[in-house]
Amino acid sequence: MTVHFPFQNSYSSLPDSFFARVAPTPVAAPRLIKLNRPLAVQLGLDPDLLETPEGAEILAGKTVPAGADPIAMAYAGHQFGQFVPQLGDGRAILLGEVIDKDGVRRDIQLKGSGPTPFSRRGDGRAALGPVLREYIVSEAMFALGIPTTRSLAAVVTGEHVIRETALPGAVLTRIASSHIRVGTFQFFAVRRDTEAIRRLADHVITRHYPDLLHAQRPYHDLLAAVVARQAELIARWLLVGFIHGVMNTDNSSISGETIDYGPCAFMDAYNPSQVFSSIDEMGRYAYANQPRIGLWNLTRLAECLLPLFSDDQEKAVAEAQDILGAFSETFGNAYQAGLRKKVGLFTTRDGDEALIQDLLDAMAKNQADFTLTFRKLGEAAGDDGADVRAQFMEPAAFDEWVGRWRARIALEPQTGAERQAAMHAVNPIFIPRNHRVEAVIQAAVNDDNYAPFEELVKVLARPYDDQADYAAYADPPLPDQLVLQTFC
Ligand code: AMP
Ligand code: MG
Ligand code: MG
Repeated sequence: MTVHFPFQNSYSSLPDSFFARVAPTPVAAPRLIKLNRPLAVQLGLDPDLLETPEGAEILAGKTVPAGADPIAMAYAGHQFGQFVPQLGDGRAILLGEVIDKDGVRRDIQLKGSGPTPFSRRGDGRAALGPVLREYIVSEAMFALGIPTTRSLAAVVTGEHVIRETALPGAVLTRIASSHIRVGTFQFFAVRRDTEAIRRLADHVITRHYPDLLHAQRPYHDLLAAVVARQAELIARWLLVGFIHGVMNTDNSSISGETIDYGPCAFMDAYNPSQVFSSIDEMGRYAYANQPRIGLWNLTRLAECLLPLFSDDQEKAVAEAQDILGAFSETFGNAYQAGLRKKVGLFTTRDGDEALIQDLLDAMAKNQADFTLTFRKLGEAAGDDGADVRAQFMEPAAFDEWVGRWRARIALEPQTGAERQAAMHAVNPIFIPRNHRVEAVIQAAVNDDNYAPFEELVKVLARPYDDQADYAAYADPPLPDQLVLQTFC
């Protein structure tokens, strides 16, 4: 039996300038370390066959499955604000697309599968640690209900990659509703290839925004739709304490999925200016900067689309500004609605925003754990609130606030149990804590031990459920476990 991939490729039939045809580079000794079996089934793939040696060879890029049309996608991008006219998939190869069980077209991409014409000085490879981090965090995001690329598999290659030291090499199989980025549009805009921009926009509309196919102004509406999805996505990040870490325009997805998990992290103590990424020296991509950067990236997308808006450049610019103007309202609405749910409010009243902001301010001042404060506040809906109080360095700051909160929720008819259930459904107890992710990576890299990885992935698949046997996974790091920086 050979593994059958029901490919239905579309991107590779776009013009040649959109990509480079390139096959993955065979690796020495592929070994499957993780297959996401439910996701395989969702994609119409046979998980048992993927777990055979032949399956591992495909997932490592050693064998190209029938029907694949391997390409490296072209894109440009602003990296930390600096424009680079050509980036592209330097270490990733799109094998092709399948239509999943829900009828959604999904890219199947190998990341770390060898050099491409876009590799520049890179080796085209990925190290095991970052592959495991992307696997863990992307699947955690999915379980949290946040739009994201997913991870189908991780294989070790049996080869070393040279970073600061020699590290085990690995390949991640990444699944995305597409890998089209803001930077994909920028690639053609900088080349003044308006026809390519139109082809790309039409492809994106068909694929991600089919409601716009018959719109009067499809390209304007496309920008508006991407603005809305990104605004909502970034609100979701903030509501779980996620910091992407590298919000370059080439890491900003047109479909509105979280993409490219590099030096990303979930924060422990609430701190709006938190940065983990070792490469983000200026804090450009700090937690609370993310909405502003999202809008900056979308403004770059708008610039690419101007030639499709109107021949009258002044008119086109005014129209784009108008559409971009919706970002802050969409973001603000999503963020405020999410916060109201996090503190268990069923209704909206004057003063709610200030009440919630006062909690956030007290959390920041008292280094309260972001995740546990909200989770334990849910418990406080039915008890005396001792556990949430304990999150604050100076619990008195919480006492003052909680009195106002209790008075506010008393205006609503819900019982404590109802409120707690609603809050627990939006406030996870388990997030991929940095110290846990690091420990998993160390066990894998140093000891070839994947048991900690398996257990962490299993716990994070049910982030909203109290899992008594795994309670320790909810704990913040002890002082000597604190991870201050993440690396890509
Ligand atoms: P990233 O920072 O991961 O979003 O990557 C930015 C760009 O660098 C993309 O064009 C990647 O394909 C490329 N890149 C990153 N790492 C490598 C590598 N090891 N080999 C080749 N290209 C790479
Ligand atoms: Mg990237
Ligand atoms: Mg990356």
